[in-house]
Amino acid sequence: MHEFDLARSILDIVNQEASSRGLQPMAVEITVGRMSDVVPEALSFALDTQAAERGLVGVTFNMCPVPVTMLCRRCGHEYEVADSDFTCSGCRSTDVEMISGDELEVATIEFEDRPCETSQETPYEDTV
Ligand SMILES: [Zn+2]
Repeated sequence: MHEFDLARSILDIVNQEASSRGLQPMAVEITVGRMSDVVPEALSFALDTQAAERGLVGVTFNMCPVPVTMLCRRCGHEYEVADSDFTCSGCRSTDVEMISGDELEVATIEFEDRPCETSQETPYEDTV
């Protein structure tokens, strides 16, 4: 269950970002490559169970699966891997490299648009 360790590091990142901005996080998007050896459902469960004890209440975690993309060194073709056939779909070469699909990272963190210390209701304004 290494998803629990991963969840801890993700929650640490979210907490760091939140405290440096002084804002309450609302939603977190996590990029999970298909070759990252992470089960999105397990990670999602680990995040949900550990978020509260890390002070992150009411945060939604969204998993964003990333397909495996390969680049052929022979013909320069870029292609997504279907099933586990890694050979180039253009020239059938096996001289290929993975350019994406093994990542696991926090893609975006959405924050509440006002600091959590402010309890007063503030009208929504289109100020940047
Ligand atoms: Zn090729």
